[in-house]
Amino acid sequence: MLQRCGRRLLLALAGALLACLLVLTADPPPAQLPAERGRRTLRSLAGSAGAAQAPESRATGVAAPGALTREVHSLSEYFSLLTRARRDADPPPGGASSPANRLPRPPAEFLSPHDVFIAVKTTRKFHRARLDLLFETWISRHKEMTFIFTDGEDEVLARLTGNVVLTNCSAAHSRQALSCKMAVEYDHFIESGKKWFCHVDDDNYVNLRALLRLLASYPHTQDVYIGKPSLDRPIQATERISEHKVRPVHFWFATGGAGFCISRGLALKMGPWASGGHFMSTAERIRLPDDCTIGYIIEALLGVPLIRSSLFHSHLENLQQVPATELHEQVTLSYGMFENKRNSVPIKGPFSVEADPSRFRSIHCHLYPDTPWCPRTAIF
Ligand code: UDP
Ligand code: MN
Repeated sequence: MLQRCGRRLLLALAGALLACLLVLTADPPPAQLPAERGRRTLRSLAGSAGAAQAPESRATGVAAPGALTREVHSLSEYFSLLTRARRDADPPPGGASSPANRLPRPPAEFLSPHDVFIAVKTTRKFHRARLDLLFETWISRHKEMTFIFTDGEDEVLARLTGNVVLTNCSAAHSRQALSCKMAVEYDHFIESGKKWFCHVDDDNYVNLRALLRLLASYPHTQDVYIGKPSLDRPIQATERISEHKVRPVHFWFATGGAGFCISRGLALKMGPWASGGHFMSTAERIRLPDDCTIGYIIEALLGVPLIRSSLFHSHLENLQQVPATELHEQVTLSYGMFENKRNSVPIKGPFSVEADPSRFRSIHCHLYPDTPWCPRTAIF
């Protein structure tokens, strides 16, 4: 009996000694510059090229266990990677499909409208067709935080706001022209000193109260990239690394047509790839449009994951599915065509679909019933 106990004690002691040795020999993780972190992420992605991803990782964006072990150099690094994977697997904040995710996040800091820079991308031919409607509705509420990036002069627009940025970009819907405008948006935001950068298209309605509520729940000094992807898996791209060399890369990106926001802390880290002309050359490296380039810089180069929010909406999704009772919570809305049909939010009143095809006037009266041109006795 005594002998058996003694053997057990000896075994337990040996186990404890081994555990201590393991902890003591683990290296602390080396400090990393963003560029180094980016290069390492790319190396690991290149290493996984061609390998099929686990279905869960496609659906959720969470790295498969194999991906966790690929980059690990020490025990502590392994645990920090595990923590990150767990954080990624958490329900997406800012509203999602299950009711638990709809609980509002507590505010992280006080945010006023002056802290947010909203860039609206447009083109001369859409000033009357699209932009006037935005000035009639959501922009009228917060003109000073909204900046219009366009490609042609317009006296009517100049009378509406002083915040018009005439880019020298071509008035085309080409990859280069769109990236050219995004580059100017980025530079103006950095120059503004504001806490948050949000990009929207000229067919987006921005619900400013919901936007401020969402952004206030994150510290602007941390790395935050928030929006809605239009694909159900990371985009697969080819990165040009030298004249004759390319390699595969994959990353999530928030679709520009639904709008997205970036914290100042993260935007500053994007500088080497996004500021003063670098954005165009970065976009050329992957030959994808502006919103993909943003995702490439943030996810693939800086290693910061996109935070998915179902509160952003583009006309690439069926807008009929946005519940009319939850319009107050939505951050952006849109209108347009979807599967060859007119696509807009299903709000009843107060204007008919003929009088208000985008539904933006009706949405605006629902959110701001004190607007002078809204019918007093509107039923929604
Ligand atoms: N746009 C532009 N130049 C163009 C055409 C479009 O800058 O020649 C802008 C447009 O103002 C909008 C965005 O690009 O903000 C997306 O355009 P659109 O909604 O027409 O197309 P989508 O990509 O949504 O199908
Ligand atoms: Mn559009």
